[in-house]
Amino acid sequence: MSKFINNDSIICDDDQRLREKSLDVALPLNKEDRELLEGLYKYVLDSTDPEIAQKDNLSPAVGIAAIQTGVKKKMLAVVIKDSEGKIIHEYALANPKILSYSLEEAYLEAGEGCLSVPKYHEGYVYRPRRLKVKAYNLLTDQEEIIKAKDYLAIVLGHEIDHLSGTLYYDHIDQKDPFKVKKDAFCID
Ligand SMILES: [Zn+2]
Repeated sequence: MSKFINNDSIICDDDQRLREKSLDVALPLNKEDRELLEGLYKYVLDSTDPEIAQKDNLSPAVGIAAIQTGVKKKMLAVVIKDSEGKIIHEYALANPKILSYSLEEAYLEAGEGCLSVPKYHEGYVYRPRRLKVKAYNLLTDQEEIIKAKDYLAIVLGHEIDHLSGTLYYDHIDQKDPFKVKKDAFCID
C-alpha cells in the first residue's frame, strides 16, 4: 500500500523544514520508505487527472520531493505527460545525485511553480539545460543514469534542489526578475 498523500500532507515555505537538507535513504528501500515513494509518485501521477485530483484534493504537478511532506529523505517523483495525457517521463527516485551538468542553461518562459509555494514568484529560473543524474528508480527497481534535457532537466533540477533546501525563487534575480540571458534556451 502506498502512503496516501494529498494537499493536506504538503508543507509550505513558511515551514523551516523545507530549508533542511534531506538525508540518503538505505537501499534496498525499507517498507516505510517504499510506501512513501510510491505515494509521492501516485500524487504526481494522479494530480493531472482532473477527476481524481478533485476527489483526492491534489493540485496539478509534475514533481514532488519527500521533504514537501515533511520527511527529510532523498526521494522524489516526477511524471511528465504530453498534451494528450500520455506519460513521456516518469521516475520515482531515491538518492539522486547529479553527476554532471551543462553550462548551457534553460528556463521556462512561464516561470516555475511549486506545491510548497502558495505565493507566485514571478521571474526566470535559469538551470542547466542538460543534467546527468544517477539514482535508484523504484519504477524499474534499478539504479539508473538519467540523461535529462530541457523540460525534464528543469523539473529534475527543481526537485533535486528541494533535497538541499533550495526553492525555485532563490534562483530569481530580485532586482531584475525577467533578465534575459541571451545564450539560455527558452522553453515555452
Ligand atoms: Zn517544488
